[in-house]
Parts: sequence; C-alpha cells; structure tokens
Amino acid sequence: MPTTDSLPADHQELVNRTPTQLFVNGAFVDAEAGATFDVLNPATGKVLCAVADASPADGRRAMDAAVAAQADFAATTALERHGILMRAFELLMERQDELGLLMTLEMGKPVAEAKGEIAYAAEFFRHFAGEALRIDGGFASAPQGGARFLVTKQPVGPCLLITPWNFPMAMGTRKLGPALAAGCTSVLKPAQQTPLSMLALAQILQEAGVPNGVVNIVPTTDAGGVMEPLIRSGDARKLSFTGSTKVGKALLEQCADKVLRTSMELGGNAPFLVFEDADLTEAVAGCMQAKMRNMGEACTAANRIYVHSSVIDEFGRALSEQMAALTVGDGTQEGMKVGPLIDDAAATKVDALVEDAVDRGAKVLTGGQRPGGQGFFYPPTVLTGVSPDAAMAHEEIFGPVAALTPFDTEDEVTAAANNTPYGLVAYVFTNDLRRAIRVAERIEAGMVGLNQGVVSNPYAPFGGMKESGLGREGGSVGIDEFLETKYIGIAMS
Ligand code: NAP
Repeated sequence: MPTTDSLPADHQELVNRTPTQLFVNGAFVDAEAGATFDVLNPATGKVLCAVADASPADGRRAMDAAVAAQADFAATTALERHGILMRAFELLMERQDELGLLMTLEMGKPVAEAKGEIAYAAEFFRHFAGEALRIDGGFASAPQGGARFLVTKQPVGPCLLITPWNFPMAMGTRKLGPALAAGCTSVLKPAQQTPLSMLALAQILQEAGVPNGVVNIVPTTDAGGVMEPLIRSGDARKLSFTGSTKVGKALLEQCADKVLRTSMELGGNAPFLVFEDADLTEAVAGCMQAKMRNMGEACTAANRIYVHSSVIDEFGRALSEQMAALTVGDGTQEGMKVGPLIDDAAATKVDALVEDAVDRGAKVLTGGQRPGGQGFFYPPTVLTGVSPDAAMAHEEIFGPVAALTPFDTEDEVTAAANNTPYGLVAYVFTNDLRRAIRVAERIEAGMVGLNQGVVSNPYAPFGGMKESGLGREGGSVGIDEFLETKYIGIAMS
C-alpha cells in the first residue's frame, strides 16, 4: 500500500485546494457511495490525494446533464462562446505557474515543461475562440436551375471525450476547445493517473462562464464500465479519443453500434531520419527535442532513429554527451530536465525493451540501468546498432531511450520508416531540398518535421494515418470534427 506523500507546505496547500470530486451539471459532487481512488506522485510513488471514482450511474448522470444542456448551448451566439473560451484562455495563463506545478505533482514532467504545456493547452482555447467566429455556410443556385442550395453547419451534439495521462491539460483543451466553439456539450473522462489537471480546468471553465451541464468531468477507475454504456446509449453523438491504438480499436467497435462520429488520436512509432548531408548539430538538437520532450512519453516521440552509416558514430557520440548531461530527478525541483515515468509498469516496460534490444546486439552508449530508490525513474539512454527485430523497433518505447540504427540509401530508409502499422509523425533531417520534399511525400505519416524536432502546434492540423488514427485536431479543420454539415434544398419554381 503506498503511503501518503509529505510535500512542502505550499505544494500541499495547492493539492488541498484542487477539486477532487466529479464535476457534473456545474457542481463538484461525490461519486456514488462516496467511492474514491488514490492519485500517486510518480516522483515518490506516494499518495498525493484521493479523487472521486465515478460509477456507471455517475457517468449516466453526467451524460444526462450534457444532453439536457445541449439545445440551449447550441443556441448561444458564436460571440458568447468566443467570450467563454477567451476568458478560459486568460485564466489558464494567469494560473500557469500553479497549474504547471499541479501537473508535475500528478504526472512527473519537470515544472518548466509543465508550465509550457499549460501555455500550449491555453492556446487551443484562444485558437478555437477565433474558429467559433468563422463557422460558415454557403448559398448557391442548383446548376440545373429551379432550386437553391443552403448549406449550414450545426454542432454534432453531446460528445464523449477520453484523454490520456501524458499531456493531462493539453489533451483536454484540444478536445474541449473545438467542442465549446462548435456548441457541443461533453462528458470528459481523464486518465486515472492524472485527473487533477482536468478538475482544476473544470473550475476555470465555470469561472469563465460555461453554463451548467455543458462540460462534465468524470474520473474513474472503471473506464470501460462507465464509458461503454454511454457510447452505446445513442445519447452521445461523437467520441473523441486520445490514447493507445489497442483501446482505440475497441472503442471504434463500440461506436459502430450507434454510428457515432469518431476522432481517434492513437499511438505512434515515429521514425527520425538523419541523412549524411544534414547539419549534425541541428539534427542532434532536433533529436533531443523529439526524443526527450515529456521524458519520451509522447505519441510524437522519435522511436526509431535512422542515421546514415557515414555519420552515425559522430551523431551517437554527440547525442550521448547531451543525454548524459541531463539532470534526472523530482520535476518540482528547479533545474531538473528529466522527471520520473508515469508509474512502475512504465519504468519496468522501458527496462525490458532495453534488455531485449541489448540481447539482440544493441550497444549501450549511455544509461541503460534502472536506478534503485523511490519514484519511477529511468535514465536518459542511447543505444546504437538496434536490430530491426528488437521489440522497440515495433512498439512505442514511451521513455527516454534513443534507439539508433544505421542505413545506407534513401530507398532503404524510407521503406524501413514506413514498415509499421503506425503513421503519426516522422522527422527528416537533410539539407538537400529535393530530397527533403521527396522523402516527406513518401513517408506514410500525418505529420512530418523537416529539420525540426517538434511539430505540435494548435494552429496546425494534428493527426495520424494508418493505425495512428482518424481525423485531425487543431488547425482550421479541428472544429469540423464537432460540426455537422446540413444542406437545405429550396424549391424556387
Ligand atoms: P490508454 O491505455 O489507451 O488510455 C487512454 C485513455 O483511455 C485513458 O483515459 C484510459 O483510462 C482510457 N481507457 C482505457 N481503457 C478504456 C476503455 N475500455 N474504455 C474507455 N476508455 C478507456 O493509453 P495510455 O497508455 O494512457 O496513453 C498512452 C497512449 O496514448 C500512447 O499509445 C500514445 O501514443 C497515445 N497518445 C496519442 C496521442 C495522439 O494525439 N495521437 C497523444 C497522446 C498520447 P484509464 O486511465 O482508466 O486507463
């Protein structure tokens, strides 16, 4: 049984005033029979606090509230919804420091990175506040004559939103932003490891003027038990999910029952290609970002790093030096660059993947040993000569481990990059413009970083091909996922 954490007084005070109940119909309420579950601090493995644990009946109450609020919310003006989102943006930015700290306490990422995520998350609200004002339609004459076409957009209706633990705030605002902008109500289920960021956001949304029932938040340890009946109920009109491909596939099957619209942001297995003509300093810097953002716990993390055989030794040396210099520790302490992984299972999995790669011939350039002591830490690690047969070449490492593999030709590396059922993002480093465009076009991924290690941007369309997902979040298309297009044919003769 994990024991209770002993936090510094100001951290404890922040946890104490964070809501820990379900947010249903505009009120913070206990779960049925007062059920709760513990949220752990991954830096210590100890209990931060207990949070209400929604039952299927609690989920149903949240759904009822979302359904009841839908018609009135759909009837609000775009300017009203714009105002709510802008106020929420401002409140998030005003509270950036404390929300960043709260995120570090429940998720582990260094506090500077957590504050960066709050700004990134807030930006989705500012972006979609603008998009609310740009929902458009059309009017045209039928080419055959005798009729007019009126095309209009309407909110899809009540939405179910499911988010993962790795970006506890941004994955929520990336869904709630367009839902609110479009005029949709929602029931959001955060990951059980990180419910506090979404509960803090509920408070902000209430202050920003979100009407009762429009946003409902239901942390639970029974994700399937709570969500499946709602998916199959016919009351929700859409599911937007971010998480693993395995769970996404199961949810798609459930959604087929009532033909729910779906947005699926699923797993990745990002290739990172370094050609012999790349600027190696830039490529190493890009690799540090693509690998180490969020301790490697990102769907966009560079998973397979292919480096031209003529430069792999130099690249590996430079990358290892920078990885070895990163400070690892409790993310709440200033200066820490790498926090703990989310839980013991995550650290155990990364350890097993490294052992498997080494057994298949990989050489450890730095790291590679899980430390003892409290918390779920894993050191920044660089492996070279990783075999295509190694498990980490096929599944997400989701940890701070850079796996280097040499290649010789453009055709060979493009084929290797595409040899995966995933297709979320790829990174290409080269100074040859023609090669850059050629490879970017041949790569089967929804996003490509050309000479840059980060592609996430609220103003750009984020999403994957193949088993990495369906639909796009962010950008000008993000709101379309929450709108129905209706065509009204008008007789004129
Ligand atoms: P996960 O196990 O699929 O969980 C994601 C969410 O789904 C959590 O809220 C989880 O709840 C919930 N869930 C699990 N089983 C469910 C069920 N049967 N019915 C309804 N909901 C269910 O994924 P994860 O391990 O937390 O997150 C990491 C994965 O997310 C990685 O594969 C990563 O690549 C992906 N990801 C993708 C993107 C993207 O934009 N493409 C962004 C971030 C992460 P519990 O917490 O209760 O299990």
